[in-house]
Formats: sequence, C-alpha cells, structure tokens
Amino acid sequence: MRIVVDLTRCQAYAQCVFLAPQVFELHGEEVLLYRPDVPEEQLDRVRQAIAACPVQAILAGEEVNADAR
Ligand code: SF4
Repeated sequence: MRIVVDLTRCQAYAQCVFLAPQVFELHGEEVLLYRPDVPEEQLDRVRQAIAACPVQAILAGEEVNADAR
C-alpha cells in the first residue's frame, strides 16, 4: 500500500508516529518523515494512524492514485 501525507495539512501532532513508528518519524518539532511504501506487516498500524490523524493528512491506496493524476 502506498501513502502520501499532505504536509500542508499535517500539524505534527505525532499520533501517526506513536502508532506506526517504523513508518512515520518526526524530525525536530514539526518535520514529518515517512515511508511512502508501507510494508505488509505495518498495514494495520498505518490504518490506525490514518484513522487517528486529527487533520486527516494521511492518504492511502486509491486516494493516492487519484491524487497522482
Ligand atoms: S497524525 Fe497527522 S497531523 Fe499528526 S504528525 Fe501524523 S500526519 Fe501529521
């Protein structure tokens, strides 16, 4: 599964970092780094992170393809 984080929306609340630390990482106070290709074993965690993000900044799967026009 591929993900994209809309960094203009992300407020660095770090919920995703707590839920899936192998995919999301905060550098400093507000720079979010992430792996756009989510490994199979991280899918559940990443789905939880998507649901937990307070500003819905994480897009996944079909939404990503739709955005990549
Ligand atoms: S949970 Fe959402 S707002 Fe918070 S750091 Fe992750 S993507 Fe950004």
